Amino acid sequence: MPYVAGGGPQLAGGSPEVLDVFHSPNVFANNVQIALWQDPVESAIAAAIAFEINHPDFAKTVAVVEAIEGDSESPDVVASQQKVLIDNGTLDKESVVNGDIAGKSPAKADEAPPPAEVTQGETGGAVTVAGTVDETVLYVSPLTGKTYKVKDVTKQPGVVFPYDVATLAVENGTTVQAVCDNLRLLIINCFDPIKNQFPDAFMTCSFRKKGVGSPTSQHPLGMACDIQYAKASKADYYIRAQWVKDNTKYDQFLLEYKTTGTGLPWHHISFNKAGNRGQVCTFMNDKNCKGPGVTGLYDLSNG
Ligand SMILES: [Zn+2]
Repeated sequence: MPYVAGGGPQLAGGSPEVLDVFHSPNVFANNVQIALWQDPVESAIAAAIAFEINHPDFAKTVAVVEAIEGDSESPDVVASQQKVLIDNGTLDKESVVNGDIAGKSPAKADEAPPPAEVTQGETGGAVTVAGTVDETVLYVSPLTGKTYKVKDVTKQPGVVFPYDVATLAVENGTTVQAVCDNLRLLIINCFDPIKNQFPDAFMTCSFRKKGVGSPTSQHPLGMACDIQYAKASKADYYIRAQWVKDNTKYDQFLLEYKTTGTGLPWHHISFNKAGNRGQVCTFMNDKNCKGPGVTGLYDLSNG
């Protein structure tokens, strides 16, 4: 049936039972604007997650992410963990070495510091944890209209790397309540605004089992998430990072590239209600591409 913008076409047309029509202003058949019966953005995200999970190197990617996804505080740990993974065949040494020099010749650079207000943001509020932790409503967004439950941001099909908050929070040295509260603030300050700006954004991971790598990682506390985009090219990640840098609230925002696995970049973003640094860095293969502590966004899509 043709799509009529402005509400109520099905009811007016005598089909009140047809409700789930998504606005599709750019989809036509024979020059007639038509309705879509499935949200194209969510479909693209589902396809992107399936791509990640079905990638031949997925098991290796999980091992690497669990062990060493870098942060700016623990470069030595990352280096030693990479050596372990290279020695046991999980990581390809040549790719890692090639990645080490990528920061020397970035295609583009944005070294302007973010505006001071990125360190502000909402810090209060507590989630009411449901009897079944996965069903806990973290946030109902007036911005995107989305309802975020724990399972939506910690389990497949919503995320690529699933982890169970109910069983792992205490093991990680925290509580279910604290993880849920942190995830709520992460969504409000970081993910939801990104999702609003880039509807094809999806989390690959938020809460994570405490790994053997980076001891200062904010993932095991529910304070960080990794984001990819279903429709973004490798080069788009730098362009989108510039928007994220200036338009969200965060403690640490990392533009991350890798030469292994799918080779796709991702955005890592964290929020700390105890205080945010507004730190922006670019990582290649889990290490700061310009050396420990150096800030700035660098387009490494040519590497
Ligand atoms: Zn991360």
